[in-house]
Amino acid sequence: MLHYVCTGDCGGESQRVGVCESEGCSKEAQPLTECNCDDGFHKGVVTIADEPDIESMDDHDNI
Ligand SMILES: [Zn+2]
Ligand SMILES: [Zn+2]
Repeated sequence: MLHYVCTGDCGGESQRVGVCESEGCSKEAQPLTECNCDDGFHKGVVTIADEPDIESMDDHDNI
């Protein structure tokens, strides 16, 4: 069932679209993210990465 989760500190979820209402949450007042998982682990949520992608270094086989 489709629901909406906060990707911030509070980890809150809602059955309706909206914004995080948890005071002090890093995502307070920011829109909740759509999720459609069935197990409550919110694996369907698209987490916005705070850290930039680390470019993987090329592996050279110099044995
Ligand atoms: Zn929150
Ligand atoms: Zn979910």
